[in-house]
Amino acid sequence: MKTIIEPFRIKSVEPIYFNTKEERQNILESAFFNPFLIHSKDVLIDLLTDSGTSAMSSNQWAGIMQGDESYAGSPSFFRFEETVQHITGMPLVIPTHQGRAAEKILFSILGGKGKYFVSNTLFDTTRANIEFSGAEGIDCICEEGKHPAIPAPFKGNMDTDVLKKIIEKKGAANIPLCIITVTNNSGGGQPVSMQNIREVKKICTENNIPLFIDACRFAENSYFIKLREKGYANKSVREIARELFSYADGCTMSAKKDAFANIGGFLAMRNEELAQQCRNLLIMTEGFPTYGGLAGRDLEAIAIGLNEVLDEHYLQYRIRSIEYLTNKLIAAGVPVMQPAGGHAVYLDAKEFLAHIPVEQYPGQALVSALYLHGGIRSVEIGSLMFGKYDEHKKMIPAQLELVRLAIPRRVYTQSHIDYVAEVIIEVFENRSEIKGLKIFEEAPTLRHFTAKLKPVE
Ligand SMILES: *Cc1c(COP(=O)(O)O)cnc(C)c1O
Repeated sequence: MKTIIEPFRIKSVEPIYFNTKEERQNILESAFFNPFLIHSKDVLIDLLTDSGTSAMSSNQWAGIMQGDESYAGSPSFFRFEETVQHITGMPLVIPTHQGRAAEKILFSILGGKGKYFVSNTLFDTTRANIEFSGAEGIDCICEEGKHPAIPAPFKGNMDTDVLKKIIEKKGAANIPLCIITVTNNSGGGQPVSMQNIREVKKICTENNIPLFIDACRFAENSYFIKLREKGYANKSVREIARELFSYADGCTMSAKKDAFANIGGFLAMRNEELAQQCRNLLIMTEGFPTYGGLAGRDLEAIAIGLNEVLDEHYLQYRIRSIEYLTNKLIAAGVPVMQPAGGHAVYLDAKEFLAHIPVEQYPGQALVSALYLHGGIRSVEIGSLMFGKYDEHKKMIPAQLELVRLAIPRRVYTQSHIDYVAEVIIEVFENRSEIKGLKIFEEAPTLRHFTAKLKPVE
């Protein structure tokens, strides 16, 4: 088979600014070993997130010019609404300024003390919005999803036996929603199978619990189903996505992911009463229901992006480029999550830096080392992000200590990715020199965004 090439040409470019290791040492110290506090101009290859960092197409930019900025009833909204309805099959579409705004609205209405939201794995903003409402989030990822080094086709699946037990224990009446995150961002960008979604839906229906999809990467997940699940090889990704959404009562979406937009999101659902409650909150916090915190031009860019992402040449290149980097690292013995996920490569920091105890944040130490050695910005998904304290202020670590290298869509070329592989392999060869970190300042929620750290002496 021939090389799978980028299915686009480059029309507009932006420069990368180079710096030295000495400069990066100072930058890292001034940023308190937290990549979120580094200025982006000081980053060579920015793999912090694939959120809002996509390169928009010439069609999307043209759509931006055509955006209609009317306060109410803009044609841009109706194009957006129709596109979302067509892909999801859900009639009620509510635009928000990004995914977490959709979450905030949904969980303000459905959450509250004594409520439980059950998921394969809740993303950090989803969990934070649930907990902020007073409710609790419960993850029940399948057994395969807990072992980064063991490949399996659908490591994002929910453990349906655990789901049943949770429903029994907490009571179906206290579970306002079940949420399936596709692909499972916090669990390695791993896909969920159609069969699993169908099984979860069956359990939900039996217990009268609505099912929502956290749909940020629905196209990547649908493509994995096409590649890996029996019976889907000859279906189009659009058909697969349509089936996936058919099992859900609603979805939340960040358009900053699979819609290639720099900002935006939405809620979509089937229940008119819930939608009305959401719209009432929307008007208070986001805006009128035909723009909801977005400009008309953003709605155009999202509508166009949602159709572009279903192009199978794009998805083939997308999934292949993540796999390409993953395989290079595997060949060099670097511990990575296997198989490759849909939007990012995940290093297993617990293995990579086995000499650093979890109390000293091996993931964050690795993030710092990758920046220092190669100017690559990544993010920890481990105990800095998800760790908690018990009543004695002792750390309860996260299940996994991962470092995520998220690949922005349509942004970097193969030589950028080759460079990333070289840097990681070099850092791996010199890993014994890396030291652990400790926190000296942190916020009560979503602490990883602002925490200040320093090396352990
Ligand atoms: C990014 C993301 C969100 C939140 O979306 P924002 O647009 O960043 O607010 C929610 N869930 C998942 C799975 C995500 O990846």
